[in-house]
Amino acid sequence: MQEKRRQKREKSIKKVELKMIKVSIAGTSGKKDKDSLMFEISGVDISYANTLRRLFMSEVPVMAIEDVELRKNDSGLYDEIIAHRLGLVVFKTDLKSYNLPGDCKCKGAGCAQCQLKMTLKAKGPCTVYASDIKTKDPKVKPIYPKTPIVKLLDDQELELEAVAILGVGRVHAKWSSCLAYYKELADLQIEKQPDNKEEIVEQCPPRIFEVKNSKLEIIKDKVNDCLLCNACVELSGGKIKVEPSKSFLMTIEPWGQLEPQEIVKEAIDAYDEQLEEFTELISKTK
Ligand code: SF4
Ligand SMILES: [Zn+2]
Repeated sequence: MQEKRRQKREKSIKKVELKMIKVSIAGTSGKKDKDSLMFEISGVDISYANTLRRLFMSEVPVMAIEDVELRKNDSGLYDEIIAHRLGLVVFKTDLKSYNLPGDCKCKGAGCAQCQLKMTLKAKGPCTVYASDIKTKDPKVKPIYPKTPIVKLLDDQELELEAVAILGVGRVHAKWSSCLAYYKELADLQIEKQPDNKEEIVEQCPPRIFEVKNSKLEIIKDKVNDCLLCNACVELSGGKIKVEPSKSFLMTIEPWGQLEPQEIVKEAIDAYDEQLEEFTELISKTK
């Protein structure tokens, strides 16, 4: 009986999941932006959309400098400031070749599978840039090579060794993979033609309406720009209806370590792992 109930419950959960979530790739205001990803999720509530947003920003591992050993620093900046600036350098991340230190065979002691050594040597007068950091792995390199680290005056020297590791944004912002945000989409309907059509066209901030053949119409391509401000509802005396649609437009703008598609995949994997861990813990309770 118990087993039957469990099977029924699992079947119904799968059915709901498949029916509830619709994901479609959307362009950025008609233009396709290669670096960012936008998709629409329908049939979920705001807490689910926010869970995804937090997973994208906080649970996807990326590479950043964690330890710095300064051999020489004649610059005007303290060692700590240079270490901090190095920590914020954005590196292309190769998730196939490295493990999170906690998940590595070495159990966090440090090995070639969870650490990458880097060196930097410079003599002034010059500006030291991220591109001056040397690594043994050609796949891990600064995304923005012109990121300035420090300026060196005549004969000033900087020499250091650093270790980069994988980490997640939940622990420190330097390991954050992207900026992710969403907006709730609107269901817009013109139920009756209002008299003040031109005024509504003018007052809608993203200019979603137009007058065609003396009729007020919605410009379909612009519906997703609606701010849910209700100005058109008030101006039309309720002849226009605007409701939140329970659909969300999610945008992922990566900092550059990973492609947006990799960010989505890694975030979902991390979520799966967390849920499995939770299920295991629950099954242990009596
Ligand atoms: S709610 Fe605001 S943004 Fe949306 S269509 Fe109406 S006036 Fe325009
Ligand atoms: Zn290791």
